[in-house]
Amino acid sequence: MQLQSCLMDKDVNIDKVVRQHLEMDQFFSGFTMKGKAQETSQQRTQRQADTMTVTEKTKELGKIAEQTRQCRQCDLGSLRTNAVPGEGSPNARIMFIGEAPGADEDAQGRPFVGRAGQLLDKIIAACNLKRSDVYISNILKCRPPENRDPRAEEIISCLPYLQRQIEIIEPEIIVALGAHAARTLLDTTKSIGQLRGHFEEYYAGIGRPPIKLMATYHPAYLLRSYSPENRRRVWEDMKKVLAELDLPVPQ
Ligand code: URA
Repeated sequence: MQLQSCLMDKDVNIDKVVRQHLEMDQFFSGFTMKGKAQETSQQRTQRQADTMTVTEKTKELGKIAEQTRQCRQCDLGSLRTNAVPGEGSPNARIMFIGEAPGADEDAQGRPFVGRAGQLLDKIIAACNLKRSDVYISNILKCRPPENRDPRAEEIISCLPYLQRQIEIIEPEIIVALGAHAARTLLDTTKSIGQLRGHFEEYYAGIGRPPIKLMATYHPAYLLRSYSPENRRRVWEDMKKVLAELDLPVPQ
């Protein structure tokens, strides 16, 4: 499934049209905005002044959570036990983004609390971090029946909730867990093998610097293919994330 192609079925994707214009503009003026380091000091000062307090962020994230609980924009809304909006620190430097809730998450209304979640907890702990230090969310906020892959129309309906969460939290790094999360956030059809292991950029919207994105294998995939090689790859990806944030890298 490619977000890009499914969007073409809709009328016009304004965000995309604007982005294309901006990219053209940047190309012809020889100006590239690669990250926070390349913001002008004026832009940085303005962005910091615009930054919300933790209380404001918590309130806004709460509003989004409530909206997901009321949401009936796709069929999953009538099938869920609980919506799973996401949880963690409103000031998280790292945001982990998975695909969609499974049975345990649907039962509890919390992300990554099943077997895959236990493995994610171990990965977070191996980084010397706590779950409460990071923010954990998903592309879809409701469980697809039988854990089937998310459908294009479900992603289109649900993505604005996640985009808004990212906008509020302003993480320094997004860790996309698995192909669905990585492809959706990067709007690409590349394989997880091609996307993982290096930083890509998440387009965060007009006037916002892009956010570094590290794609890695989904913990559920790791559980299915629990080879030393795959574990090493995920650990290498996480070490790059820690180094990028100037956090101690456990050896
Ligand atoms: N898998 C996901 O992608 N997200 C969850 O919350 C749980 C399992």
